Amino acid sequence: MDPSVQKVIDHYQAISKEMMDRVATTQIKVVPPRLLATYESGSVPGLMYTVKRTGDNLTCNCPGFVYRRKCKHTGMAESLIKKTIADKLEF
Ligand SMILES: [Zn+2]
Repeated sequence: MDPSVQKVIDHYQAISKEMMDRVATTQIKVVPPRLLATYESGSVPGLMYTVKRTGDNLTCNCPGFVYRRKCKHTGMAESLIKKTIADKLEF
């Protein structure tokens, strides 16, 4: 076979592989946790707790949330969401 023809075939094979990879990555839908709010710790100044949202779930990295799956930070973030939605609904 003419080496230049093989070169063209290789080129198109590389492109189609790249396309396949691209399709594969777009088909996997990963929802990354979104940062909602950051609160400073009341007992340890400078220590920040972050509230993140994955779908409808709120998570916090403070010890209270780790033990009880609920804390004032997620509560504050939740009321913040409700207020934001309420603001958006106002005409
Ligand atoms: Zn918390």
